[in-house]
Amino acid sequence: MSSDTRNSLLRQNRVLASLADRTLDQLAPHLETVPLVPRNVLCEAGERLEFVHFPLAGVVCLMASLREGIAETAAVGAEGFIGLECALGGDSALSRALVQLPGSAVRMPLEALRALAARHEDVRHVLLRYVRFFVIQALQSVACNSLHSVDERCAKWLLTAHDRSGLAQSFPLTQEFLAEMLGVHRPSVTIAARTLQRAGLIRYSRGIIVITDREGLEEAACECYGVIRRALDEILPAH
Ligand SMILES: [Zn+2]
Repeated sequence: MSSDTRNSLLRQNRVLASLADRTLDQLAPHLETVPLVPRNVLCEAGERLEFVHFPLAGVVCLMASLREGIAETAAVGAEGFIGLECALGGDSALSRALVQLPGSAVRMPLEALRALAARHEDVRHVLLRYVRFFVIQALQSVACNSLHSVDERCAKWLLTAHDRSGLAQSFPLTQEFLAEMLGVHRPSVTIAARTLQRAGLIRYSRGIIVITDREGLEEAACECYGVIRRALDEILPAH
């Protein structure tokens, strides 16, 4: 594969896309492509982080485990990377990273990335830019979870998953998993999915969700979807 072809493949990830060709050339020997298989765990909370993953397509959810159950704290796709602890001086994973939507990623040993970040200012900056976006997203989500309805959050989650997965309008998703993602009981998700379906915004059957009216779904989502998308476009512009 020529380095141009390889770099254009790597640029499917927004963080990698922010790096110059010559920097990507330095990263390339350390990168390995891996499939993202739903329900696979990339790392467990508290475990030593061996690799940093940059998704090219697919969605990985960071999960918090509490006594009452588990809930998603963030969804990461081709806009970011899993292992931002490495940019903050940490060695152990802050959360469990669980693949939700299929795709692929390139992964790199944490130590190799850290060594490159120490030598290349642009690598350091782009990792920190993503951390900045991640913090904005996390703060918005705290407010979202306490103020916005399950219907609005469900619409927001589907739009975000659609944006970040690189998949077409339809994707596999069980109600059980969506309930985990939203941190609510399953009956609430059933009601929300039914409401969105009745409004003609999605079609949902046998574990497959099809977005039938993307614009309508954006109107049904809470303001957080737009706030987070604009922050991403500002901090890590699409190339
Ligand atoms: Zn919200």
